[in-house]
Amino acid sequence: MSNRLNIAKFGGTSVANFEAICNCVKVIKGNSDTRVVVVSAAGGVTNLLVELAHHAMTHVEIQKRIDAIKDIEFKILGHLAHAEDVKEKLGVLLSELDTLAFHEEIHHTDSLKDQLLSLGERMSSLLVAAILNEQGQKARNFDVRNVLKTDSVHGAATPNLALIKTQASRLLKPELADAIIVTQGFIGSDENGMTTTLGRGGSDFSAALLAEALDADSCEIWTDVIGVYTTDPRITDQARPIPELSFEEAAEMATFGAKVLHPATMEPALRQNIRVFVGSSREPEKGGTWLVKDCKEEPPFRAITRRKEQVMVTVKTPKMMYAQGFLERVFAIIAKHKLSVDLVTTSEISVAFTLDNPANSVAQRLNKQTISELETMCDVTVEDGFDLVTIVGNHMQSAKGCTGKVFAALNDIEVRMVCFGANPHNMSFLVKEAVSTQVVKGLHSVLFE
Ligand code: ASP
Ligand code: MG
Repeated sequence: MSNRLNIAKFGGTSVANFEAICNCVKVIKGNSDTRVVVVSAAGGVTNLLVELAHHAMTHVEIQKRIDAIKDIEFKILGHLAHAEDVKEKLGVLLSELDTLAFHEEIHHTDSLKDQLLSLGERMSSLLVAAILNEQGQKARNFDVRNVLKTDSVHGAATPNLALIKTQASRLLKPELADAIIVTQGFIGSDENGMTTTLGRGGSDFSAALLAEALDADSCEIWTDVIGVYTTDPRITDQARPIPELSFEEAAEMATFGAKVLHPATMEPALRQNIRVFVGSSREPEKGGTWLVKDCKEEPPFRAITRRKEQVMVTVKTPKMMYAQGFLERVFAIIAKHKLSVDLVTTSEISVAFTLDNPANSVAQRLNKQTISELETMCDVTVEDGFDLVTIVGNHMQSAKGCTGKVFAALNDIEVRMVCFGANPHNMSFLVKEAVSTQVVKGLHSVLFE
């Protein structure tokens, strides 16, 4: 066993079915530094669980979703040669699924929702560990909730770094010598031992947190794309993989819509200077992207991201003229409702900001309550149907000619809002959903082709 430590995380598509998991096994065996494997729920499972947790449905509709989940898990189980023990454990998890999905309080109790959401990861880690063992790699399924301690904000829990470190040294480290530990992303537990979740896509964050707690040398994020691209390859076939990125650029990209990594993943990596690799478990030989603290090159334009389903809120009051404290009161309401603001612009009597409002998100979305609280102090306009397009790069404030090039590319576009200058890594534009593909293509061709 090498004395270097790598954490390998596999996303939903990488563990979606038996063949995909076999690719993961090859990847795991291919790096002798890998001692901890973090898995997402099998592709599609978390979406089904979120529906069960959040939407009131008929008995038949609930059963339909449970059956869809069972089908995914049993198809994987069906490939195991020695399935008895695993089948029994899976059975226990599936009966927990039944109980929670039909629980009378499920839509009113956040802790029950998280308990339900945790099943996807708990099932996939069980199956992945079993498949590793059958394919000659000693592995053990480990309940991450004993280590990944968080606060009690269900659906968007904040990790308790000090406790995670202690628990990892106490419970996880001693296990590593003897087998590969397969554990769950996305889930944790609070001080009362209640299950919590880190927010959609949180498994990357889990992997990075464990890497930090275990003093790992590297953390691999295996997904279905060959690294991080200059833009989403589904938008333009001109997109190309980026060999090396800085943590800061990657964090900007993740925050502004690149689907490759959960935005918080970079924080632990940055704190501990852990090199992060992103690649495709289906085609590991094609390489991928390394995320590092200091890059060899720092070009002004590195990538273009898009975040869909943005809502723009404009608050306006003549009382704001020559007045202080208006911003503070507006943001106090936003903060109280735990909404996170992305772009902000201000004028003398109005403030406009954008909020992320995606379907299927676990966290709270803009609701009537928030709007009516804002309305007690100002006029509120809510407009939706926007996408946010962001250019990520370096030294943008000081690179001459930078903005000219960008605005020339946007000449024919109605740009609703622009943000630039808060940091040297990003320039963002709010545009109508209908034109955002054209905007990304246009910018990509001017900046990268
Ligand atoms: N399974 C969770 C989700 O789909 C977490 C993850 O995959 O990272 O959001
Ligand atoms: Mg995922």
